[in-house]
Amino acid sequence: MKRIEIKTLLKNAAIGAEVNVKGWVRTKRASKNVAFIALNDGSTIHNIQIVVDTALSDAENLPKVTTGAAISVNGVVVASQGSNQNIEVVAKTLEVLGEAHPDEYPLQPKKHSLEFLREIAHLRFRSNTFGAITRIRHSMIFAVHQYFTQNGFFNIHTPIITGSDAEGAGEMFQITTLDVNNMPKTEDGNIDYSKDFFGKETNLTVSGQLEVETAMLGMSKVYTFGPTFRAENSNTTRHLAEFWMIEPEVAFNDIVDNMDLAEDFLKYLIQYALDNNMDDLLFLSNRQLEEEKGKPEAQRTMELIEKLKFVLENEFARVTYTEAIEILINSKTNKKKKFQYIIEEWGIDLQSEHERYLVEKHFQKPVILVDYPASIKAFYMKQSEDGKTVRAMDVLFPQIGEIIGGSQREENYEKLKSKINQLEIPEEDLWWYLDTRKFGSVIHSGFGLGFERLMLFVTGMGNIRDVIPFPRTPQNAEF
Ligand code: ATP
Ligand code: MN
Repeated sequence: MKRIEIKTLLKNAAIGAEVNVKGWVRTKRASKNVAFIALNDGSTIHNIQIVVDTALSDAENLPKVTTGAAISVNGVVVASQGSNQNIEVVAKTLEVLGEAHPDEYPLQPKKHSLEFLREIAHLRFRSNTFGAITRIRHSMIFAVHQYFTQNGFFNIHTPIITGSDAEGAGEMFQITTLDVNNMPKTEDGNIDYSKDFFGKETNLTVSGQLEVETAMLGMSKVYTFGPTFRAENSNTTRHLAEFWMIEPEVAFNDIVDNMDLAEDFLKYLIQYALDNNMDDLLFLSNRQLEEEKGKPEAQRTMELIEKLKFVLENEFARVTYTEAIEILINSKTNKKKKFQYIIEEWGIDLQSEHERYLVEKHFQKPVILVDYPASIKAFYMKQSEDGKTVRAMDVLFPQIGEIIGGSQREENYEKLKSKINQLEIPEEDLWWYLDTRKFGSVIHSGFGLGFERLMLFVTGMGNIRDVIPFPRTPQNAEF
């Protein structure tokens, strides 16, 4: 008999139908005459209940039907007598495909901490929480491609290995095939990278932006969605050493078009989750309510689904960096020195505590900050008339802080070149990037959305390690 997925079974199967289901046992309850098995196959958060009459000859397999075991059941769909489900499957045959050795299997049916689940990342796909996150993650990946496809964008695979370390977005991971215990040296004692695989120093990319900009000048609307790597030693709940980034780049768009795109894109993704992942969102919402039960009112966050709808229903506040600094300097929190980093003057980079103050306390909705000081932003950002700011924008979200960083780009060859020189970035590393400003340069804009930051927001999870299957963080590359 052909296997039916549990999601399809729960949605479509008719009473009386004969079905085959396969999956992993979540729980088993047995009495003298009958055993109930909760079975899950990952297709949905919901389990199918299997009823096994102990008079059945295959009931001899029941001792091996333990939590975590893989089984296959042929049976008949019946209306359920229990109140937790509409239908269940009465087994005719019961086969154990893979035992789970109950003395050793770590994922017993009880509440596990997220920290513990991280330690068994190879098994956590079988937990309700990580199952829900995995389905939502897939859904968001699909929605990203769907959004761009519907809007006339082309996906560009930008390189993961990069020969330029000029992006300036953080510390890079070097890659080499040289013997690190015996590096070839040049005459003046430096490492001889001409002997390395690519004949030059190479790193893992921190962003696909510079390359995707070259595709934009020809294809008009492009985006890249790939892994990016940052060796920053920031052990926070919002940073990974390996994360996925979505970077659209659009010809003829100025900074206002860029803000419009960012807001429309984020709202599309959130709406998509509400339309397609409600079961999992409801599960995660309940989970969050349970977690926060004991906490004082002030520490509780908005209910997950309410929070997602709230973002859809409100226009993001659009505020200049200068206005934001005014607000922060005059805030009680700053005056009472309650920020870890006190704001004293225009020009400083904002910390996540400041971003969250603006979003959660002051505006009480997502905020797009624009026109940052040039000195704290990357070299490629469009220089403003005032000579002090650049047309940069960060989108700030509740609980997360920065979810998107972007800008209008400097399209003027002379200005870009003098900025590169001023920052002493070797021009020969960026000759091709400078070329784009020489041949058919147009104004253009783009941004980077950290995919796992989006996942944090949509799932309501508090730690970025819990929204990616195999997190890479300082001192941790297990699995
Ligand atoms: P932050 O200030 O939060 O460290 P950033 O300014 O270094 O971020 P950008 O270089 O602007 O980040 O990268 C674009 C987006 O990529 C950010 O808005 C964020 O969503 C995401 N991002 C950046 N660094 C990380 C990281 N280490 N782990 C996960 N996501 C990240
Ligand atoms: Mn940024």
